[in-house]
Amino acid sequence: MNEICRDFPILNQIVNDERLVYLDNAATSQKPKEVIDAVSNYFLRDNANVHRGVHTLAERATEQFEQTRFKVKNLINAKSEREIVYTKGTTEGLNWVAVSFGTQVVKSGDEIVVSYMEHHSNIVPWQILCEKTGAKLKYVKLTKNGELDFEDAKEKITAKTKIVSIAQASNVMGVVNPIKELAKLAHENGAYMVVDGAQSLPHMKVDVQDLDVDFLAFSGHKMLGPTGIGILFGKMELLERMSPLEYGGEMIDFVELDHSTFKEVPWKFEGGTQNIAGVIGLGAAIDYLQDVGYEEIEKKEHELVEYVLPKLLQIDGLTVYGPKEPDKHTGVISFNLDGIHPHDVATALDMEGVAVRAGHHCAQPLMKYLKIPATVRASFYFYNTKADADQLIKAILATKEFFKHGTI
Ligand code: PMP
Repeated sequence: MNEICRDFPILNQIVNDERLVYLDNAATSQKPKEVIDAVSNYFLRDNANVHRGVHTLAERATEQFEQTRFKVKNLINAKSEREIVYTKGTTEGLNWVAVSFGTQVVKSGDEIVVSYMEHHSNIVPWQILCEKTGAKLKYVKLTKNGELDFEDAKEKITAKTKIVSIAQASNVMGVVNPIKELAKLAHENGAYMVVDGAQSLPHMKVDVQDLDVDFLAFSGHKMLGPTGIGILFGKMELLERMSPLEYGGEMIDFVELDHSTFKEVPWKFEGGTQNIAGVIGLGAAIDYLQDVGYEEIEKKEHELVEYVLPKLLQIDGLTVYGPKEPDKHTGVISFNLDGIHPHDVATALDMEGVAVRAGHHCAQPLMKYLKIPATVRASFYFYNTKADADQLIKAILATKEFFKHGTI
């Protein structure tokens, strides 16, 4: 076991008589002991509601809760910590932008541009917005290689476009999209740039000022943090224009009998008791990621993909979706084995201790685009090792052997 693996107690276990190889990181990452300790220390020592109390525990909880906002601000290089809004996750962040911002700026006849590789949570909120407003949803095509077709983006993003919303990294093929160039294109056409950062924040340095994006949504649980906590970044002037999504305790300034006034950004969005433990856990996750360093994370993941992708491509009857060049992938690799249903492959791999995901990965339009019902997805993170990659390859070969006479 390497040094980093030691920080992740869950990885040190036997599953189905084999060493656990966790390759489902795109679904959710594992948590280092530092994150688990931060959450349990909060409950053991500091548990109190935030902002409301003057007692010591409430002050401690509030300090840690607000400290995470600074950590996120520094992580993504936002101009102000007030541009950081706590959400449940990427899904909630994208929905909030569609519901609260989208309804203000999108009118009948306008267009919203996404791509064929989007996760459902970056498609459905825009579909609903289009239904409500009479706007049209357009999809940027992919190249044969499975990358975003920038020439098609140039055709789809026009003066009619009001919002462009694209994932920075695909949760199916691991490709990374040119967000800076897309944001420039969107702005040149008078549109706003929204980014789904669910699969990029865990793996790469994201600088919202350099990319010049208007909104960025991501999830804590995919970047070593707890579930149920996410971030919506928005440029201050845009967040200020947005109405709160939930009204009630904590987000108000004054409540009169017939009207109320609200707190300033970001607190006006954070109605009710928040996921305090989740926020504190996310703070610890960011500390851990910063300690390892994105450069090191990218280097480790690149080494892993460079090691495993050619081995996968050599397997007879195995198709990899998306680019075949290792440097065009995050740690996410989708594939199928001829004649074996992806769910059968995933079940067989689990019998060898290898945890992968099979299915449409919440990207049904992409599956249709690729003309396949589903894929097997192996998603690596920086704590995975070459031994994990070897166990995956061995398990795939064993699966092929097992099903060599067919699946029925
Ligand atoms: N977008 C992408 C690209 C994702 O991979 C995911 C999670 N699978 C989401 C959005 C949704 O994230 P969450 O379920 O944490 O809201």
